[in-house]
Amino acid sequence: MPREKHLKSITIPVSTYEHAMKQFDQAASRLHVDKGLLEFIKHPRRSTIVKLPVQMDDGTWQMFTGFRVQHSNVRGPAKGGIRYHPNVSLDEVQALAAWMTWKCAVVNIPFGGGKGGVICDPSKMSEGELERLTRRYTASFFDVFGPESDIPAPDVNTNEKTMAWIMDTYSMNARHTVTSVVTGKPIVLGGSRGRREATGRGVVITVREAMKHMNIDPTQATAAVQGFGNVGSVSAQLLHKLGVKITHVCDVFGAIYNPRGIDIDELIKFVAQTKKVIGFPGAKPFDSKKILFADVDILIPAALENQIDGKNAAKVKARILAEGANGPVTPEADPILAKNEVFVIPDIICNAGGVTVSYFEWVQDRMGYFWTEDEVNARLERIMTEAFWDVLKVALENKVHLRLAAFMVAIQRVVEVVQLRGIYA
Ligand code: NAD
Repeated sequence: MPREKHLKSITIPVSTYEHAMKQFDQAASRLHVDKGLLEFIKHPRRSTIVKLPVQMDDGTWQMFTGFRVQHSNVRGPAKGGIRYHPNVSLDEVQALAAWMTWKCAVVNIPFGGGKGGVICDPSKMSEGELERLTRRYTASFFDVFGPESDIPAPDVNTNEKTMAWIMDTYSMNARHTVTSVVTGKPIVLGGSRGRREATGRGVVITVREAMKHMNIDPTQATAAVQGFGNVGSVSAQLLHKLGVKITHVCDVFGAIYNPRGIDIDELIKFVAQTKKVIGFPGAKPFDSKKILFADVDILIPAALENQIDGKNAAKVKARILAEGANGPVTPEADPILAKNEVFVIPDIICNAGGVTVSYFEWVQDRMGYFWTEDEVNARLERIMTEAFWDVLKVALENKVHLRLAAFMVAIQRVVEVVQLRGIYA
């Protein structure tokens, strides 16, 4: 089901896929590329819907609906996570798959884009039910998944255990162990060191480079972080290590504030025990609705999509807005933020550290030779820094904001490969 927006009692569907296509069109219109070729790379190459019968713990059968979209395999195998959520829809999965294509291209790793999902509520399912659902989903896509064709990873409500089940189901059918069919696995099953922290580490690398570009001294800067899960907590921790004062943090339960800076290492320990940021002794409560408009230098939305839109974008005070989450800023907000000189680091670069280390995991699995965490981090550092400056150069040359520049770089890279390969017809 597309998300819905209520306007004078008329319900207008807001399509995430249209959001992604709008971003593509804006960038594509600035490139001198054949229109037919652009149409070819714009839309998903294959979208599949499957019915998944699962026996529940009480003996009854329940039907679930699953999706897998391969947006592109022009630059390499389709790559992207699998989401378990009641609101999953083909529209959303197609948008997320398209963003994966541009994300992999912008950091120049040899993958296309894909995404998957199942309409379900994992909070109401037992571990056994989730395992049976995951194995049936994997079996339905046995001819689609593969280290050379389509490589899933965790996304919302899936984790390394889910990846282990997918890897095992695929391997049982293949009659041998195929670790490189999924990434985000436990380290003992061929996962990569540094994968857990990779997205937050990448976010902070791009923020650090943006501060260099804008002559901001990290030790004089302040930051607010929305979301304190994997991406938000690691981003806050590494930013804190750079000397930035993290003054505001929130999660789904509430927000906290300390003008002198929150001790992030202590907050991580506190959240590990209590599961929430509120109640942390080193900070005061704060209105979580206002965190996006806090008076800080750096804002990191690291929770949900569509947080900053045409209605509230003018209230953002931060100088740098780093998109840890996927799609936290709508296309209507972009021109407002640009006009107010907010430097937006778009999701397709900002949070690309995760898929970059997923690529390292796939490489290590295929070699059967594993790197140290320092090696992983050094390679991530190089890729993220290069991607940031490649995109900034295009933005400055074309006098456009970073999102447009990132899409231009990504589309151009996919186009170049299509032109060299030709289109088989
Ligand atoms: P997570 O589940 O670990 O953490 C999500 C955090 O957001 C939690 O602290 C939760 O309490 C908070 N949250 C949820 N609803 C909220 C609300 N209404 N207000 C404030 N906070 C709220 O998820 P994650 O892996 O950190 O992912 C966060 C975002 O980053 C998602 O958009 C995801 O798609 C994106 N992302 C994640 C990765 C990755 O490697 N984990 C990679 C790329 C992009």
